[in-house]
Amino acid sequence: MIWTPQEKSEWERNVLAIEPTDRGRQLPDGRFMQESRLTLSPEWMDQLFKGYRCAACLERQEEAFPEVCCSAWCNFPIRAEQRDRLAIDFMGQQPGIVAGFPMDRELDYLEREHYEKKGSVTPGKEL
Ligand SMILES: [Zn+2]
Repeated sequence: MIWTPQEKSEWERNVLAIEPTDRGRQLPDGRFMQESRLTLSPEWMDQLFKGYRCAACLERQEEAFPEVCCSAWCNFPIRAEQRDRLAIDFMGQQPGIVAGFPMDRELDYLEREHYEKKGSVTPGKEL
């Protein structure tokens, strides 16, 4: 008897589509690694943009924007590179659920949230 689980895994529920792209990078040994375009659930997209999920390996993080990914084999520098990575991976993508995703507004929101956490709010201050 083979037992087949009825419940989908967390990954299956949140990674809605993986499509090949024409982007990719040449590996040092000469192979060409093609990049995939992921379509994620709104929940995971939200976590990605808030730094609670690694953009490189999609591992859930304990804190927002940790120095590096908590996954031992990944070590992606989330704090330094996550936003750039998301901009590259998801900018211009129209994943149905977040079509026309207002990137600027979201980053603005993130910055404001981060700012408020520091406890030194100066409303209306222009940089
Ligand atoms: Zn990672």
